[in-house]
Amino acid sequence: MDSILPLASAVTRRRWSGILLAIIAVAGALGFRSLLEGLGQFYYLPMVPAVMITALLAGRTATALAAILSIAVNLTLVPRESLTDAATNAFLFAGVSWILAEVCWAMRAMQDRTRDLSRQLAAKDAMLNTALASVPVVTLDAGGAVQSLNPAAATLFDLPETVARGRPFALLAPGFDVEAILGAGASGGALEAREGHWTGLRPDGGGFPLSIQYGLAPDADGQPHIALCLTDLSRWHAADAQARELHAQLNKVWRLNSLGEMAATLAHELNQPLSAAATYLHASQVDMERAGLLGDSALRTVELAKGQLLRAGKIIRRMRELLSLEARKLDSERASSMVEDLGPILNMIGSSKGVAIRMEVAAEDDRVQAERIQFQQAMVNLTRNAVEAVGDQAAPEVVIFGRPVSATHYRISVEDNGPGIADDQIERIFQPLTTTKSGGMGLGLSVTRTIVESHGGRLQVSRSALGGAAFSFTLNRESSVENA
Ligand code: ADP
Repeated sequence: MDSILPLASAVTRRRWSGILLAIIAVAGALGFRSLLEGLGQFYYLPMVPAVMITALLAGRTATALAAILSIAVNLTLVPRESLTDAATNAFLFAGVSWILAEVCWAMRAMQDRTRDLSRQLAAKDAMLNTALASVPVVTLDAGGAVQSLNPAAATLFDLPETVARGRPFALLAPGFDVEAILGAGASGGALEAREGHWTGLRPDGGGFPLSIQYGLAPDADGQPHIALCLTDLSRWHAADAQARELHAQLNKVWRLNSLGEMAATLAHELNQPLSAAATYLHASQVDMERAGLLGDSALRTVELAKGQLLRAGKIIRRMRELLSLEARKLDSERASSMVEDLGPILNMIGSSKGVAIRMEVAAEDDRVQAERIQFQQAMVNLTRNAVEAVGDQAAPEVVIFGRPVSATHYRISVEDNGPGIADDQIERIFQPLTTTKSGGMGLGLSVTRTIVESHGGRLQVSRSALGGAAFSFTLNRESSVENA
């Protein structure tokens, strides 16, 4: 209601000012006509501009009023020979002035549309400029010389536009050949480079990897005009190199960890038979001594065999100690950053099976005590298992969750919508060398459990709300003072 009232009063105000304008215009026309009286009789002619001015500045009601007023004053003030003459002139005036008014309204509508269009065009232009402000764009003439360089391109090449203008673009990107674009017969696309990417050159001789997209359009003279959209690939290349490095590190850590796990398993499995063999040898030694059946040499041989058994035990224990994670030092790390850094690797694991991995790892209060590469190894193991478990699902889902759960702990879980794990299998799957996969080694979960335990946590498995398995563990949070 509040908003209708001012609207209604604005309409009324406009109507009244239209009426006032019609009266003033007709009065003005009358005044003008009286000035022309010395030159002759101008009946309706001076009234035509009055109607047109009203049509241009006000609406239809005011225009109709101006026409009616003009006819009324003419009929009143100008004596006519006959009623027919007066009526004919009045009708003629009404018809002509209405046609002129329609022309005025059409002109006004056209003007409004033109104004609207130029306003829309300006808005689009501003939007385009904003969008392109961060994209380096270079335009070239048909000979491949630089015509213009937007500020982002000038920054990229570290070259002012005034210096770059007129130079062959091939000087900024060696190997660039404008003929390759003109001869391609396409109006745009990506410009393939021989080494997979172009190299941009800066005045100091520094180079950077570059990708080039081109668009072709004729300019005002009909000459081809080339626009190049450039992308600096340095950051992608750096990220790629970082991902490769992390991948190599994880592979190395995996080899050592699985070796450690095998050593631990061997030590565990061999410990008993080795001790039993040593005990039997000792017993038979005692029996032989008691029976006095053998000489010193045989006793010494049995003694040597016992020594070798003990040595074998020590070797295995030593190997286990060397590869053990127990005494590792934990650093202060951010859980979200450790998981985010794994992004390219996890995406690779997911995309090989057509699974998109979602990460919901809270970045607030996520400072934890961890050995970065070992933690990342554990995450890769759990995520790979989850991806392999959801292979048969129509809509596979793998999510990594992370959030602080108390003042002292931050929980990480890897969940999926695969078949999950049967209750009677829970203990078994953590045993080393237990696998249900044809190419599996059965070491992933035991290695992960060792890593989690070396961080002071416990690897747990439960049913996920997604429907499959949820493997979770907690990390110790750094004190809240350090978090701040
Ligand atoms: P591997 O992956 O080589 O089989 P792991 O120790 O990582 O070795 O896993 C042991 C077994 O645990 C797997 O073979 C699989 O049967 C089961 N498993 C692990 N993760 C999952 C999961 N997310 N969903 C269902 N089963 C799983």
